[in-house]
Amino acid sequence: MKSPDSPPLRDALASLSEEGDASDALDVLFAEAARLQATDLHLDPGPQRYHIRCRIDGRVHPLADLRREVGAALCRAIQVAAGIDPTGGSARSEGRHGKDLVVRVSSIESNRGSKVSLRLPQPDAADFDLAKLGMDEATLSPIEDLLATGDGLLLVAGCTGAGKTTTAYALLDRLVGRHRNVISLEDPAEQFLDHVTQVEIGRGAESFASGLRAALRHDPDVLFVGEIRDPETCAAAIDAALSGHLVISTVHSRDAVGAATCLRSLGASSYELGAALRGVIGQRLARRICADCARPSELGTEGERQLERLGIPIPDGGAWRSAAGCEACWQTGSRGLVGLFEPWLLGDADRSALFDELGEPLLRESARERGVVSLGASALNAAGRGQIAIGEALRIAAATSS
Ligand SMILES: [Zn+2]
Repeated sequence: MKSPDSPPLRDALASLSEEGDASDALDVLFAEAARLQATDLHLDPGPQRYHIRCRIDGRVHPLADLRREVGAALCRAIQVAAGIDPTGGSARSEGRHGKDLVVRVSSIESNRGSKVSLRLPQPDAADFDLAKLGMDEATLSPIEDLLATGDGLLLVAGCTGAGKTTTAYALLDRLVGRHRNVISLEDPAEQFLDHVTQVEIGRGAESFASGLRAALRHDPDVLFVGEIRDPETCAAAIDAALSGHLVISTVHSRDAVGAATCLRSLGASSYELGAALRGVIGQRLARRICADCARPSELGTEGERQLERLGIPIPDGGAWRSAAGCEACWQTGSRGLVGLFEPWLLGDADRSALFDELGEPLLRESARERGVVSLGASALNAAGRGQIAIGEALRIAAATSS
């Protein structure tokens, strides 16, 4: 990763005038964002200057500060290109920039002017590969078996920005070409998937629940529901899963077992959960250690004590590393992301626990007894392999352990 302050971006932004054509500057800005592998671009009006910032690996970095008039002109150009009324309060739209770049644009009027946020395209569908996302063979193999069974509910669970949709796409990618009819309902579709009928909420369907009912009339084998977040969708997804379809979806929860609580809170009965739920892949993203400034390090007594308190075993033969930061990583010590996974594939004991209405702590205990690796332990394993820094692993272990 080069320094963000690249000469082409600086020159393009410097040549922007208040009334000037902003399209050249936009081209350079998008090229810069793509080069830096940014996920989002933000144009924020400040008291004196417009701040252009981008999000990379979950952190926001400054790209440029512009004169207010110039920043406002750039915002207007983006709003016009996305078909958003610049005087219209808050709005969201999708714009196509160039041949294939689909950008989601959101605009809101702040007390200092328009703030424009752009969600940049995610990786190509060809990159939706579970091994590339960091899933090892031991985790992948039982998930493959589950995909082959062909029915029930399979969830990807995690917090916002955990990469749930990317993993769900990777699961769908493994299913297409297996003589399956795959229909997805998304709000909105983040990528075009070959051999998948993608229906967007607000266009092809009014809601996830009504979309699911319509999709069932099209002889599907596999249904993907972008997110289960309301009782109606939860009930429709469980009905579809219990009537012989494989339903893949995502839920917002801290870890895999938390997904059961999430569905219960949306009205799923213990019987429905026990009968429909096949597995939950808990997921979180960790910051990959910067290869340029990573150095061998020790877990240390404090680290060992912390793990003991959290009940997380210390992996054998740890190739522990830490990173102080360098120019290549913007002094953060990390570059890129690694997926951490907690594959909770339900066995008879888990199903009985669900039928018996056991709460989250007991379900979690039962999963650990069966050897399901927690997200915290998965982080420690990644640190033991030298993929992430010790500090990052301990931070994730603390955040994900109860
Ligand atoms: Zn570095």
